[in-house]
Amino acid sequence: MMQRLLRILTGLIGVLTLVMGLTFLLAPGRLMGQFAVLASGNAGFSTVRGDLGGLFIGMAIFTLIGAIRASSRWLAVPSVFLGFIVLGRILNLLFDGRSTESVQAVILELILIAVLLATIASLERSGARPFGRSLWVAIPVLLLVVLGAAFLFQRQIGMTITKRVAERAFQNRFPASLPDGLHVGLCGSGSPLPDPTRAGPCVFVIAGKHVYVVDAGEGSPRKMALMGLSPGSIDAILLTHFHSDHIGGLGEMMLQRWGGASHKDPVPVYGPQGVESVVRGFNDAYALDKKYRVAHHGEATMPPTGAGGVARPFTLDDSDRSQVVLEQDGLTITAFAVNHAPVFPAAGYRFDYRGRSVVISGDTAPSPTLAKVARGADVLFHEGLQSAMVSVLHDAAVRHDRAGAAKITADIPSYHTTPEDAARIAQQAGVRLLMFYHTIPALPVAYLNAAFLGDAAAIFKGPIIVGRDGMLLSLSPGGTSVTMRELL
Ligand SMILES: [Zn+2]
Ligand SMILES: [Zn+2]
Repeated sequence: MMQRLLRILTGLIGVLTLVMGLTFLLAPGRLMGQFAVLASGNAGFSTVRGDLGGLFIGMAIFTLIGAIRASSRWLAVPSVFLGFIVLGRILNLLFDGRSTESVQAVILELILIAVLLATIASLERSGARPFGRSLWVAIPVLLLVVLGAAFLFQRQIGMTITKRVAERAFQNRFPASLPDGLHVGLCGSGSPLPDPTRAGPCVFVIAGKHVYVVDAGEGSPRKMALMGLSPGSIDAILLTHFHSDHIGGLGEMMLQRWGGASHKDPVPVYGPQGVESVVRGFNDAYALDKKYRVAHHGEATMPPTGAGGVARPFTLDDSDRSQVVLEQDGLTITAFAVNHAPVFPAAGYRFDYRGRSVVISGDTAPSPTLAKVARGADVLFHEGLQSAMVSVLHDAAVRHDRAGAAKITADIPSYHTTPEDAARIAQQAGVRLLMFYHTIPALPVAYLNAAFLGDAAAIFKGPIIVGRDGMLLSLSPGGTSVTMRELL
């Protein structure tokens, strides 16, 4: 009886380890936060997927086989691995100091070793026999049963999934569930080039209980909601400039913000001069929709005064002077001019909150002003255009007689920044972490990141991340660490 219980426990450890291993392998961002791991660029993700994924899956396989076959020899393997993992933890406690997380981790791993060793001892005592051939029959039968049930009960399972999703959707996880600090999410990491995995540019910044959004690219309000942040919680929107890829989702974002929390006042939309006409245009375009919504849902749910946006322009000149555009509950937002000629004005923003700071480049060629403003910031969100890849696009456009595409691909490198130049700026500014967003060309699979980054990693000494929709960086007040989670 005792032995069976121990084997079941061991089996559960195996399943848990397998799930963690597969998560590291396939969706590393989901676990990296819990393990306090921050990948340094593409190579970092390679280590996390390969080393951590491989370690956990290997241990899981030995543990599961040991539990199923009642074989102490198979269980010896994960025990040895865990032994050395605990040794590493103890060295960490001795040499790097103590943290609650590392103490919890070592206690958990000691419990795991104790279970494995107890199972081994129990099996050794009784000389239990392995399952043998019956295992090879049991596994396919089990698999068939699971697949058959999934097929037969599609409707029921679908309803259960819907219930779960609905629970999550209305929980309004952010900002209420986040600890005080600066949290920055990518609700859109793309550019004008179509990328099935990326919405147009959009970065949300949560500072304490306030929520600000920089740019409203096409599709970004949906990504924001999928990440668990209701557009209803937006305090203000800030636009960097008025290229279509940065404002394409503005109408929808203002609408979702209004209906999301029955706001009585329109959302303030900050931007350099010109923002008035953009906001007016979207308000006009959504005027009929506003009428329908009020008529259908009533004034209590859709207060007519809260629809749309109200422009909050600031004047940007082409000097390198920066200006504070908003101060609220310890948060300072500073705007500065960047170089996106012939687009003028074009702004970048710096957010400072409780000793932590984030700079968002907007669209720009290498900008000395940005390098100056970003000095000492924790994280730099920088746009990036890999000219070597864009010239491949250009050559293809020429070969296929696509004159328009050929001209555009020849023009765009002049008003964007290569990853190498962005890395140089990040290094010069002394930021802790460089996050690329607004990446050109499209990078639908992370495998392309190395080609995109080029030599950037040799230039910037800190971690580099190629941003993906759903990433959330968290910076605790007064600290130096940056943790990352993936919410999509
Ligand atoms: Zn753009
Ligand atoms: Zn632009």
